[in-house]
Amino acid sequence: MKRKGISKKIRFEVFKRDSFKCQYCGRSAPEFILVIDHIIPVSKVEDNDIINLITSCFDCNSGKGKIELSDDAVINKRKKQLDELQERREQMEMVYEWQLSLVHLEEEMSYNAMEYFQQFTPGINYNEVAQQYLSKIIRKYGFAEILECIRISTEQYIIKSYGLATIDSAKKALDYIENIASCRKKSKEKPYLQELYYIRGILRHNFYCVDWLAIQLLEKAYLNGNNIDKLKEIALDAPNWTAWRTSMENLSGEKSL
Ligand SMILES: [Zn+2]
Repeated sequence: MKRKGISKKIRFEVFKRDSFKCQYCGRSAPEFILVIDHIIPVSKVEDNDIINLITSCFDCNSGKGKIELSDDAVINKRKKQLDELQERREQMEMVYEWQLSLVHLEEEMSYNAMEYFQQFTPGINYNEVAQQYLSKIIRKYGFAEILECIRISTEQYIIKSYGLATIDSAKKALDYIENIASCRKKSKEKPYLQELYYIRGILRHNFYCVDWLAIQLLEKAYLNGNNIDKLKEIALDAPNWTAWRTSMENLSGEKSL
């Protein structure tokens, strides 16, 4: 029994809704060929509404062992499933719109941050790369924090000439926003770093010092239970880098355990 006028799309929707299973006997595709059956026969109503359509295997559809399913209960069941499907669709669309608005919000934030930065650098124009960079660090550190870092960075690095910011200083200020944000984050996570940087300052003042290694050694020693005053004293007394490094390694290594 071939039904006419049921589009491929509707057939697919009905099959999906019915999980590709005959709703009379439970046999499923692809082992059994499925067809679309009308709950209320086409002869009675000319209705290809999806609520009136049901998945059936070929046998059930051709009448063998077919149970009457034309009562309201079945129709109501289908209706309920359809409502649920519709609800899910709507929710999916809502999720999509929500995601889209987040993207727009992100764009708006980076646009505003760019504008804010520009206020401190009169006469300079920025390209899309700058905007993308701001967008990236806003995602990482948050909008308010980046605005604060823009303020700090421009205050520190912008050099003006005849009321206009110099290109080099603007470039530097822009680049340093992320560094500042990163340092601020670190110092919030490790408040002692501030003091370790101070101690490193003592070293730098007294002799040549490998900056990154100095901080690493100081942190190790500090976390190993040596207090700031002690570390400060050692830094002040050290005659040179090698001697200082050796004493740090003694404080932080296996020896102190
Ligand atoms: Zn069947």
